[in-house]
Amino acid sequence: MDIHQNYDLSHCNSFAVPAKARAYGEVRSKQDLVQAMAYAVEQELPLFVLGGGSNVLFTADYPGLVVHIALRGIETNPLGTEQVELLAGAGENWHQLVMYCLKNKLYGIENLALIPGTVGAAPIQNIGAYGVELADVFVGLEAVEVSSGRTLMMDRDACEFGYRDSIFKHSLEGQVVITCVSLRLETRASPEIGYPALASELATTDSAAVTPEQVANAVMAVRRSKLPDPELLPNCGSFFKNPLVSRQQYERLLADYGDVPGFPQPESPELIKIPAAWFLDKTRWKGRRQGAVGVHEHQAVVIVNHGGASGADVMQLARAMQQSVAERFSVELEPEVRIV
Ligand SMILES: Cc1cc2nc3c(=O)[nH]c(=O)nc-3n(C[C@H](O)[C@H](O)[C@H](O)COP(=O)(O)OP(=O)(O)OC[C@H]3O[C@@H](n4cnc5c(N)ncnc54)[C@H](O)[C@@H]3O)c2cc1C
Repeated sequence: MDIHQNYDLSHCNSFAVPAKARAYGEVRSKQDLVQAMAYAVEQELPLFVLGGGSNVLFTADYPGLVVHIALRGIETNPLGTEQVELLAGAGENWHQLVMYCLKNKLYGIENLALIPGTVGAAPIQNIGAYGVELADVFVGLEAVEVSSGRTLMMDRDACEFGYRDSIFKHSLEGQVVITCVSLRLETRASPEIGYPALASELATTDSAAVTPEQVANAVMAVRRSKLPDPELLPNCGSFFKNPLVSRQQYERLLADYGDVPGFPQPESPELIKIPAAWFLDKTRWKGRRQGAVGVHEHQAVVIVNHGGASGADVMQLARAMQQSVAERFSVELEPEVRIV
């Protein structure tokens, strides 16, 4: 494996902000990973794992070794007649995996079509969209512990998945490199079409006969109409998580505004999830621009780089957005994006 010094990361992050890694290597095999980890120890460098760079914001040069995970491979094993276990290398592209599954009549992740990034990053924030999240089909993963080089096998419980959350954002943050993910998929379709935007996109289709391919196409159509393409307008998707508020606070908001979308959490019904975009719409952030950065004209939760922005510029805008929501609603918006 080649290790490059002073490596330009501006093409490795979907915000397209400038940053350099002190050292950078591409991991295509387990042997490459062992070599990279040994290099980091020898040189006393911190290690940062990079997938597709679609959920990271570099605010400065990285003073250590960045390893880009390019471990490939897809394998399937039948589990009885109606389920299949799918094993995918961490460097596989997530959307291409969704397309592979549809082509091979394996169902369960069609609602997650067109989410950018790699398979190995999917467990980090338990990716989710249109009523489905990774945890719904997740079986386990294989990872390598950075401190010891030990291989760990982790099942669904061990990953402590939550809404855009997992153990990898807490006690295991930066501690493991995920090398392979295993999913349980169905051979018989049972499309999940309850999510409002998806239901309205499929309104003219007979809901009893809707196919997973139609679901994936509908998801892609909605996403293309709503979200800016990072190739054309660099961004990281939703910059903030949807905040959870108490039922009491939600009722106060309802009394004041009448039109607050709220989703009680099945595991804790006293907590209501409100779209971050609702707060940002009310504080009039949609379409606003601050120098080279701005808020997308159709999506108040998406920060975009209009060209030439730095990570610090993005953070300055993000803080101003957080502050105005906190001042008006006493609600803290938490970044979904990993700030490095
Ligand atoms: C336009 C757009 C739309 C998006 N829509 C959605 C959406 O609908 N739902 C959603 O959930 N997300 C969405 N995202 C966010 C993003 O696509 C996901 O978070 C994705 O999983 C990130 O993958 P990545 O490979 O780019 O990860 P990166 O950005 O490279 O890394 C993200 C984090 O994961 C860690 N990481 C990456 N790979 C590994 C590994 N192999 N082992 C250990 N740690 C690792 C990194 O260190 C970092 O902390 C969107 C992003 C964009 C740009």
